[in-house]
Amino acid sequence: MTASPPQDFLPFVRPQIDADTIAEVGKVLASGWITSGPRVQAFEAELSALFGGRPVRTFSNGSATMEIALRIADIGPGDEVITSSITWVATANVVLTVGARPVFVDIDPVTRNLDLDAVEAAITPRTRAIMPVYLSGLPVDMDRLYDIARRHDLRVIEDAAQAIDSRWQGRRIGAFGDLVSFSFQANKNITTIEGGCLVMNTPGEATRAERLRLQGVVRTGFDGMDVEEPGGKFNLTDVNAAIGLAQLGQLDAVTARRAELARAYFDSAARTGLAGLGIELPLPLDPAHATTNWHMFQVVLPTERLQGGPAQARALVMEALRAHGIGAGVHYPPIHLFSYFRSLGWREGMLPHAERIGRGILTLPLFPAMRDADVERVCATLSETCKRLSL
Ligand SMILES: *Cc1c(COP(=O)(O)O)cnc(C)c1O
Repeated sequence: MTASPPQDFLPFVRPQIDADTIAEVGKVLASGWITSGPRVQAFEAELSALFGGRPVRTFSNGSATMEIALRIADIGPGDEVITSSITWVATANVVLTVGARPVFVDIDPVTRNLDLDAVEAAITPRTRAIMPVYLSGLPVDMDRLYDIARRHDLRVIEDAAQAIDSRWQGRRIGAFGDLVSFSFQANKNITTIEGGCLVMNTPGEATRAERLRLQGVVRTGFDGMDVEEPGGKFNLTDVNAAIGLAQLGQLDAVTARRAELARAYFDSAARTGLAGLGIELPLPLDPAHATTNWHMFQVVLPTERLQGGPAQARALVMEALRAHGIGAGVHYPPIHLFSYFRSLGWREGMLPHAERIGRGILTLPLFPAMRDADVERVCATLSETCKRLSL
């Protein structure tokens, strides 16, 4: 273990909760109605407006949101769901939870998202859905994705956990498509502490989502109660929704500030020669196609050229950054190599791009309250560190 960070430590992410938000939470707590109620309804209405009027329901977290999406799509035992290995493991865990099989395909080394050629090649008669993951907020080629889904009659459950306010050809992610799942966990661009929401197609799907999030209970009249399909306990509280409402009001400013910081990263990366050291930068902003919300700014380290090699180079770099008061994150190791997925038959060599990128990927600090000077310090420190550790 490393020592505790110094006082002026720059973390890779920090949630921003302003005084108004704290006051709103106080009002909910004092109101006498603290679990799901009027604030949840108002939050869902605002989210629906954000997503072009499509039905939206909220849940206790993003993982529950994806699990309910799978249930709404009637995915279960015997079914296969194609997804990425470079994701938070929740993506695959929820597929297992509903009894289906996650089928990992390799990523595109430039976008670090699902390689859609590989998706198409992995479709079998058992495939029921594609679960694309918009890593760091970058969408896949949405035209191509939905063309594949239409031609093979597949559902799409978008793991848009990181992609609030990202766009495809100018259209907001969630405002179109099939089932689109977002997370409001503390590290995401806007947060409810924990929480998530699902954008759906029809009022019927929304009704089913409401049941599934609260034990499947259907109430009628003053005292009628029935369950046709059992559900779980996945409702969001009014306390969380009050935070979400306040955060939604800051969404435009948050996205704009993140884009500014990303631009500063590209400028600093050029000044400090990161590319010349073999460090891979993210895809630059391309408003005509996929526009990321810069949920993360991730580089890929040239681990084979650094001390420690593929197994240890990243840890050495992270240790050096930390010694300079800079936090960094790993999003994510390739999940098909976790012990459980190995027990299902997944092995090294099956997904070469995901494995290489999973070993070298590093999330640099990016959050709205960061100063532009922090960006320069991060790039300069990373540059010096990689020069020092070069073989
Ligand atoms: C955050 C996240 C999730 C899960 O969301 P929780 O709210 O933490 O349950 C799923 N997938 C990805 C890619 C995420 O980043």
